[in-house]
Amino acid sequence: MDLHMIDDWVPARTRQDLTGLAASDALVAGGTWLFSQPQPTTTRLIDLSTMGWPDLTIDDDGLEIAATCTIEKLITGDYPAAWRAAPLFGQCARALLASSKIWRTATVGGNICLGFPAGAMISLCAALAGQAVIWRADGSEEYCGISDFVTDVGVTALQPGDVLRAIRLPVAALTEPTALRKVAYAPLGRSGAIVIARGRSDGAAGLTVTVSAGTRRPIVIDAPDAPTALSAVAAIAPHEYHDDAHGKADWRRAVTGHLAAEVVAELAS
Ligand SMILES: Cc1cc2nc3c(=O)[nH]c(=O)nc-3n(C[C@H](O)[C@H](O)[C@H](O)COP(=O)(O)OP(=O)(O)OC[C@H]3O[C@@H](n4cnc5c(N)ncnc54)[C@H](O)[C@@H]3O)c2cc1C
Repeated sequence: MDLHMIDDWVPARTRQDLTGLAASDALVAGGTWLFSQPQPTTTRLIDLSTMGWPDLTIDDDGLEIAATCTIEKLITGDYPAAWRAAPLFGQCARALLASSKIWRTATVGGNICLGFPAGAMISLCAALAGQAVIWRADGSEEYCGISDFVTDVGVTALQPGDVLRAIRLPVAALTEPTALRKVAYAPLGRSGAIVIARGRSDGAAGLTVTVSAGTRRPIVIDAPDAPTALSAVAAIAPHEYHDDAHGKADWRRAVTGHLAAEVVAELAS
């Protein structure tokens, strides 16, 4: 939609261009959400796509995904064969309600910054022990686990004037096997629950189960074995579950338990 209140569109090129943002300024990345509804308090858009951040940087430590990397570029990237978790990128993209047309424009950072339960890039990065690189408004840089970055529906660790610069996924998580299940009211509908399990390399004991979409924030459970992981999922408090038109909280809680059992079984097979 046209945003009639916008007076100015500023292409950002340096960090200096991102300082001193006013309450009436909004950062725009892909704009797929920003232009989908009125923004009555915004008069200036600061365009992040002109920052020139490299989309994907692979090094010995793992993968750095620029906040401005589109979902399409993430899922079509060329990754080391040892990264057994790489298929999870596409699985999470398909867990979005968004189609491939949106993937071309929507960014990984925009999805995470919205902090929606159905933000499958949040599910992905939480499941792979992702760290958010935050450029604070005071000029400092801070790291924050993605599971701590999203704290409630639409609420994140970002303060006014902060920018999400990138997400770093550690090589240890990228080389581990994963399994994902998603459920929604409609076959291609908005995710009602997503559960992702991550095993350990070389058959070592232990696993990580990440519960999202059904819950108000991503919940990451590290457990020594499958029964302990499933008990921890069952023990997630009812108030942690989200209730809206895309799923009642009781239903989300029930299906999360089933999906957790399935992903744990898949890892063990
Ligand atoms: C048909 C359709 C289906 C969709 N389905 C889903 C879905 O299933 N789940 C879901 O979560 N979303 C969904 N969306 C919403 C949205 O498209 C995605 O979340 C998308 O990934 C947002 O990315 P963007 O780059 O377009 O963000 P933008 O619209 O550019 O920005 C979104 C918000 O994040 C802020 N922002 C963006 N980048 C940064 C940054 N680096 N630092 C700080 N703040 C930033 C912006 O200021 C804005 O408030 C859907 C949208 C459409 C149109």
